[in-house]
Amino acid sequence: MADLGTNVRYIKGIGEARAAALEKLGITTLGDLIAYFPRGYEDRTQVRPIRELTAGESVCVRGMVAADLTAYRISGGRTIAKTRVVDDSGSLDLVFFNMEHRRDALHQGDVCVFFGKVEDNLRRKQMINPLFEPEGRQQVTGRIMPIYPLTAGVTQGLMARAARQGLDACADILPDVLPDRVRQHHQLCRIEYAYENIHFPESAEALDLARRRLAFEELFLFTIGLERLRSRREVVHVPPCGGVDMELFYRALPFTLTDAQRRCVEEALADMRSGTPMNRLCQGDVGSGKTMVAAACVYFMVKNGRQAALMAPTEILAQQHYQGLAPLLENLGIRCALLTGSTTAKTKRSITQQLESGEIDFAIGTHALITGSVAYRDLGLVVTDEQHRFGVAQRAELAAKGDHPHILVMSATPIPRTLALILYGDLDVSIIDQLPPGRQPVQTFAVTGGYHQRVYRFIRKLVGEGRQAYIVCPMVEENDQLPDERKAVTEYAKKLQSEVFPDLKVAFVHGKMKPKEKDAVMAAFAAHETDILVSTTVIEVGVDVPNAAVMVIENAERFGLSQLHQLRGRVGRGRHKSYCVLVSDNKGEENKQRLKVMSSTSDGFAIAEEDLKLRGPGDFFGSRQHGLPSLRVADLSCDLSLLHETQSAAEQLLAADPALKNHPLLKARVELLFELNADAMN
Ligand code: ADP
Ligand code: MG
Repeated sequence: MADLGTNVRYIKGIGEARAAALEKLGITTLGDLIAYFPRGYEDRTQVRPIRELTAGESVCVRGMVAADLTAYRISGGRTIAKTRVVDDSGSLDLVFFNMEHRRDALHQGDVCVFFGKVEDNLRRKQMINPLFEPEGRQQVTGRIMPIYPLTAGVTQGLMARAARQGLDACADILPDVLPDRVRQHHQLCRIEYAYENIHFPESAEALDLARRRLAFEELFLFTIGLERLRSRREVVHVPPCGGVDMELFYRALPFTLTDAQRRCVEEALADMRSGTPMNRLCQGDVGSGKTMVAAACVYFMVKNGRQAALMAPTEILAQQHYQGLAPLLENLGIRCALLTGSTTAKTKRSITQQLESGEIDFAIGTHALITGSVAYRDLGLVVTDEQHRFGVAQRAELAAKGDHPHILVMSATPIPRTLALILYGDLDVSIIDQLPPGRQPVQTFAVTGGYHQRVYRFIRKLVGEGRQAYIVCPMVEENDQLPDERKAVTEYAKKLQSEVFPDLKVAFVHGKMKPKEKDAVMAAFAAHETDILVSTTVIEVGVDVPNAAVMVIENAERFGLSQLHQLRGRVGRGRHKSYCVLVSDNKGEENKQRLKVMSSTSDGFAIAEEDLKLRGPGDFFGSRQHGLPSLRVADLSCDLSLLHETQSAAEQLLAADPALKNHPLLKARVELLFELNADAMN
C-alpha cells in the first residue's frame, strides 16, 4: 500500500512520463503531490443569462445551439468554426479555432453549458474556444477548478489529473497532525476533507472550510515550533551585567537621543542585566537612528569588561559603521577594529590576535567576523545590522563565537507589529517609532520615461544648489533579457556624463565591483567629490550621505514596495528638502498602487502593511532569509484572528504536554518544519 513517501511514479494513473513532468515542480512523493496546492481557482459554477454578460468576465451560460458549426479556412491553413447559442435572454457568438476534428461536437438544438471568457466583437458578445458539455454532465463546467502554479511541460490538465490520482491514492492513509480535541474545539474539518476541497472544492463554502483548517494547521505548527524555541532559550543562565554610567556615553553624542531610542536602549540594557541572554530585535524605520542604539549597547557591554561585535551585510555598510562609531567610541576608551573580506591577510592576523587577547573591545565587520579563524576572548554582545539579510543560521554562528552572548538584531524592514512578534518569534521586540527631530518627509513623484529631460533638469538645479543625487538603475534579474547590471550601470553613467551632465561629476557603483573600488566610489561621493552617483541597489542598505537630496529610481516597477522605501531612505537624511522620483512606464494596477503608496506616505510601517497585502507574507519575508518556515496557506495579512486562535491552542497544548510526548506526529512535523533548529530543540 502507498504511503506519503511513495514515489509518484508508482501511483495508479501517473507513471514514468508524468512523474518526470511533476518532478520539475519539485514533486517526487505522494506527500509532495497532495501538498502542492492550487494558487487560485476558476469558478465555473456561475451560470448567467446572456443578456447580463459583460466583456472580460469568465462565466458559464446555458443555452441551445442555434445552428450546426460552420467552418471557414483562414490564413496559415487554420480553420475557424462559428455558431451561436441562445437562452431566454439573448444570444452569444461562439468561435472555435482548429476544431476541424470535432466538427460534429455541436449540433443545432443541443442544450449545453459553455464556459469561457466573454469578449466584445463589434457590437456582439462572443466566447472564443469555450469549454462545453451537455447540460447536467458537470465535468468541466459547474465546478470550481484548481489553478496550479506550473512550469514548462506541465499543463493544468496534467496537474489536476495527477492531484486527483494522488488524493484517491491516499484516501485512507492521511495522518492528521492536529489532535482531535483541538480540531473539534476550533471547529476544523477533517484532514481528508481539507485536502479534497483545497484541490477540488465542492463549493465556495467547502473551500473556505478547507483553507481555514489548513491555515490553522500551518500556523499551529509554526507557533508550537516558535514556543519551543522560546522555552529552550530560557534555561540558559549568564552572569548578569552590572550598572554602567550611561550619561558619559550620552554626553559624548553630537545629539540627544530620541525618546524612542532611549526606550530601546533601556530595554536592551535591562535584558543584559537580567541574567539570561538577550535576544532582541530592534526595529526602526530607515533613518530612525538604530546605529546609536547599537552603540549604546556596545558601550554598556565593553564597560562591563567584555567584547562586542557588530556584523553588517555589506562591506560599504561595515565601513560606514566603523567610520561613524570608531571615533566616538575610541574617545570613550573603547578599542575598535574593522574586519571585512578585503582586510589584508596581515592586518587580519593582527586583528584576530588582538581579539583573542582582548586588546580589541569592539569588532565591526561583515561575515568575515564569523569565519573559522576568528576567535574572541570574551564576546558578550553580538549586534547584527539589517537582519533581513542574515539568516537565523548566521546569527547563530556569530553567537557561537562567544559563550551565550547577548544578541541584538537591528532590522530596517518595518514589520507590522503583530507580525514581528510572530516572525521573529524567538526574539523580543523593541520598536523605534520616532524619527530624529527636524526630518522632512521626502517628497515623492511618480513619472513616466517621457519625463526624463525634466528630471535631469531638476537634478541639475539641485546640484547647482550644492546638493548631490542618486540615480538607481533597473534591477537586473537572472535570465533577464536586459544587459547585466554592470553594463546597465556603466553605460547609463557614461551616457549621463557625456550627453547630459558633461560639466558635473558622475560616478557609478555596482555589486560586481571589487569591494575596494566600491568603497572608494562611496567614499568619494560621501566627501562630495562627485555630484551624481549611478548605482544598483548596492546603496539600498544603510549608507548615509546627508547631502544627497534627490534620488531617481529608474524602472521603479521592478522593485518591491519595501525595497523602494529602503532606497528612498538614502535621501532626506540631512537638513535639506529632499525628493524621490520614481520612473516607470508600467501601467499595471499593482504597480500603480505601489507608486501611489510611495507618493502618499513615508511611514515605513504603513508601507510594510501595503507590501504585505500586495505580495503576501511569503515574498515579503523571503523565508530563506529569516530562516523560518514560509507559510503556504495562511495569509497573515488577513488571518490574524486565526493566528491568535492557534496561539492559544498551542499554549494550551504545550502547557499540558511540553515535550509533545503524547503527540509524536505533531512533534516530528514541527521539527521537520524548523529543520535548522531541530537539533537544538531536543
Ligand atoms: P538607521 O536606523 O537607518 O540605521 P542611522 O542610525 O543610520 O539610521 O541614523 C540616521 C542618521 O540620523 C544618522 O546620520 C545619525 O547620525 C542621525 N541620528 C541618529 N540619531 C539621532 C538623533 N537622536 N538626533 C539627530 N540625529 C540622529
Ligand atoms: Mg542602519
